[in-house]
Amino acid sequence: MIDNGATPVMAQYLSIKQNYQDCLVFFQMGDFYELFFDDAKIAAQELDIVLTYRGQLNQQDIPMCGVPLHNYAPYLERLVKKGFKIAVCEQVESPIEAKKRGYKSIVNRQVVRIVTAGTLVEEHLLEPRQHNYLASLVMDKDQFCVFYYDMSTGKASYSIDRLIHLKDNLSRKKPSEVIISDDMTTENISFLSSIAKHKIENDVIIPSELSDFYHHIQPLAQQSLILLLSYINRTQCGLSQFLCQQPEFLAPNDYLEIDNAGLINLEIFKTISGDKKPTLLSALDHCVTTSGGRLLSEYLSYPLTSTEKINQRYDAIEFFIKNAQISEKLLTILKKTSDIYRIMARIKTNRATPADLGHIRQTLTIIYEEFPQIHWDNTNPPFLIIQSYNNLCQEFECYPILARALKNELPISLKIGDFIAEGFDEALDDYRQLKYNTQQYILNLEKHYREITQVSSLKIKHNNLIGYHIEVSSGHSDKLLNKNYPDIHFAHKQTMASNMRFTTQELLELEKKIAQASVAFDEREKEIFLDMCNQIDKETNKLLAFAHSIACFDVFASHATLAMIRKYTRPIIQAKKKLCIEGGRHPVIESLLKNKSKIFVPNDISFKTANNVPEIWLLTGPNMGGKSTFLRQTALMIIMAQAGFYVCATRYEASIFDKVFSRVGASDNLAEGKSTFMMEMIETATILTQATSQSFVILDELGRGTSTYDGLAIAWGTLKYLSETIGALGLFATHYHELTELIQANKRIGNLQVSVSDFQGEIIFLHKIIQGSAKKSYGIHVASLAGLPVEVIQTAQSFLKNTAKNKTIQTPDISSPPLFRDDKNIIIQENPIYDLIRKIDVNHLSPLEAFSLIEKIKQEI
Ligand code: ATP
Repeated sequence: MIDNGATPVMAQYLSIKQNYQDCLVFFQMGDFYELFFDDAKIAAQELDIVLTYRGQLNQQDIPMCGVPLHNYAPYLERLVKKGFKIAVCEQVESPIEAKKRGYKSIVNRQVVRIVTAGTLVEEHLLEPRQHNYLASLVMDKDQFCVFYYDMSTGKASYSIDRLIHLKDNLSRKKPSEVIISDDMTTENISFLSSIAKHKIENDVIIPSELSDFYHHIQPLAQQSLILLLSYINRTQCGLSQFLCQQPEFLAPNDYLEIDNAGLINLEIFKTISGDKKPTLLSALDHCVTTSGGRLLSEYLSYPLTSTEKINQRYDAIEFFIKNAQISEKLLTILKKTSDIYRIMARIKTNRATPADLGHIRQTLTIIYEEFPQIHWDNTNPPFLIIQSYNNLCQEFECYPILARALKNELPISLKIGDFIAEGFDEALDDYRQLKYNTQQYILNLEKHYREITQVSSLKIKHNNLIGYHIEVSSGHSDKLLNKNYPDIHFAHKQTMASNMRFTTQELLELEKKIAQASVAFDEREKEIFLDMCNQIDKETNKLLAFAHSIACFDVFASHATLAMIRKYTRPIIQAKKKLCIEGGRHPVIESLLKNKSKIFVPNDISFKTANNVPEIWLLTGPNMGGKSTFLRQTALMIIMAQAGFYVCATRYEASIFDKVFSRVGASDNLAEGKSTFMMEMIETATILTQATSQSFVILDELGRGTSTYDGLAIAWGTLKYLSETIGALGLFATHYHELTELIQANKRIGNLQVSVSDFQGEIIFLHKIIQGSAKKSYGIHVASLAGLPVEVIQTAQSFLKNTAKNKTIQTPDISSPPLFRDDKNIIIQENPIYDLIRKIDVNHLSPLEAFSLIEKIKQEI
């Protein structure tokens, strides 16, 4: 409903806002985008800008705030990052055009785009080395389908799986925005902090490049794709074309599964505290291009399960290790290329700039000129290298046009203009002459009039009120007034105090031509620009393959360099279930220690190598000894190996794993009403229900979040279940030294310890993993290193001395179920002195009796 009291502009605003209730509307008013009413209040608060008022509606002041048109991007970015959607409403005609429709007409405005976190294509709004996925989610009973589409690169894929895997699925792709249809309930997705609901429009058109694909996918996937296309259509206001290669089906069995907890705990993409460094990704990403960085990140998100495909990646890396000069030269070339994927996305969404086209030209020039200088002869490249090589050697029809058409310096906005080289287009050159040589035309005319009139002080001037005019002093005016020169008539225009102003038909025509030339120049240039975009668009698939090759070459060549510098090794993948690592290191901690000139101590581990055992290693040792590091490095190496990378070890031989689970120190989730211990148990339950005999599990100090005996019992039960019922391989670090005794009878579980040198109280952590079990945790020693007050350390030491002497643990009966036993068997034998003291009746104790009691207690002690 539009209020009657509204001004015409406000009425226009209200009618537009009606359709964009879920967005903040950036409403163009000349040189500003203005926001009104609640939008203004929200934006002013979120952006920390002034909230003011403009006019009234129903006798109420209208809240308003604004951002300048020429610099609105940072404001928009901040709002989008906070999860708001912005409807950008622009003036789609000039005030002059509006006036043609009637004196009181206001300019037409229209929403040209809705900016949302998942539909960005602008370079400055995106993370260069990260995909920016929009996810469309549909569910049916206990199944879901989610379509992932990165509008900024065209990468598309989809998953269909059971609902219990939804959270893990989403956490791998990390979409910036998840959309569901407006009639869907959110009860199964309460873990998502923000979800956009979207009403599917009836007229969703399947792009021709997807139509075959669409007809061959399951109905659930079709629904999900329709939801995605409908949302893109709404946010791009129908302008966008779908940039996409064939969407990839992410079949669960094709990839090593890493659950959400694993991704967090192993610090693959972010540290536990949420930072980007130091992580596995930051340690491995030495790519020289942004597309290479994104591809490497995808490889780490989706390690493979196909031995053949994994070996293809190793072959590519090995090729560059063996041909280091090729790799070095190639990386120097790639460094100079641009992100073709993102430029193509901007071309598809009509947001490309002349500079973007310049970057395509420059990238193609570099590859055409420098790539052939690499000597590939007698190198016998493997499959992936040949594939990338062929894609880079393609001819592009758009290239000669770009090379001829574009100037050297190119603007980052189409509005700035003047980017087409002279000589490319005749019409444009004519307009250019007029537009940029105006001064010369005017000077020539001025000279001509001076000669004819013999008034040497005659000038042609310009002002905004009357435009171009001829000016002479009043004393010379009679030489122009009512004088007839051949073909020229000086028509009087204005009389000033000391001057008189004239015009001529010729000057009027020149003025018109100059004004038209400017508009015609801009229009013609835009036409040429769009032609070039169309030309490039026709070669989309070839250009995407070209861009993919740049990324592939970058990933493999830069990893080869890294592998040589850091002495990584090519893994050996074998069919028989096994894991054997020699000289293994933690990829992140090793680099961190190196920066501090410290050495990382390499360690070995092997599963199922001696008589098929052990399947699980129980690792004990001092605090700060390196247990967690060892657990994590083993899991990380499996991920690296299956992602197709070399690993930080001197030898790595293993079978293919289907899942890697890691439970290393949970934190609470108060928002979901779950305590730390509850979270720990939920994560453990997930592992125990989802792990298979082909999985690898690391469990760090399981059970520490509850009482010692409950914890011990849970840890023991879990260990037994993992090895006997599931048969997974795993590493289990613990400070429950009692566990090492419990497993004596279990052949499938072996004992490892982190060695420590304890010489006359001088403790040195050796970080070396050896066979056997540790007897002490050196917790008090670590506490003292951490700076606990001396009194606390002394009290702790004497307490430890007393209790350790009297504490015995009765082992649970390991042969009998249930897994989680009653802990009545596990008791501390209380000190008999306490009992003696408790029995003393102080009121009836003679001094002599007291004396002999003290004597007795002393003896006991
Ligand atoms: P806690 O039982 O107290 O949790 P932990 O045994 O799990 O300790 P880590 O956290 O793995 O010990 O390691 C502590 C520190 O020791 C690491 O931050 C690292 O600096 C160093 N460290 C671990 N392993 C090694 C190694 N193999 N070589 C060199 N330094 C190491």
